[in-house]
Amino acid sequence: MHEICHAACDIVFTNNSLPYGADDYASKKIFHDIFVYFQKNYNNKDIPDVIKDVFEAYKGEEIQKAELIVRIPQLFTRHGYDEAMSKLELIPDGMGLELLKFYEEYFLKKVTDKFELMKKEELKKYLPQNVNAQEMYYADSIIAERSTNVDTCCTIS
Ligand SMILES: [Zn+2]
Repeated sequence: MHEICHAACDIVFTNNSLPYGADDYASKKIFHDIFVYFQKNYNNKDIPDVIKDVFEAYKGEEIQKAELIVRIPQLFTRHGYDEAMSKLELIPDGMGLELLKFYEEYFLKKVTDKFELMKKEELKKYLPQNVNAQEMYYADSIIAERSTNVDTCCTIS
């Protein structure tokens, strides 16, 4: 899960494993603020070990940022949904939930959208050239149907 999530970052953002595009300044700022909070407070007793490890095992802001986002799916796979949620809720100042929000509403959304697009592009290669609009519409609906049956990595399970 951990490495799959890094790989998703690399494929979607191509930004040194960071969880946002190099030119997405708004998301960069939001994630930076979350990061700085954890950087200052990782020794707090209510910070889960999985997150503490980011700052104890890695040196350098860029790699720590790349590691921080991965800790969300890692928390859920290690502890299960309920326990992971209570650990995140316990993090002071609502910052655990802020990190979860960034993961779900920004990171995971971008990853899912990009993978959908890649699947479409991939499948379009197998369609005949010069298909008309109606055929294209039909192809899209087949693709949409297939896509819903394919698991996307990094979903919480
Ligand atoms: Zn890692």
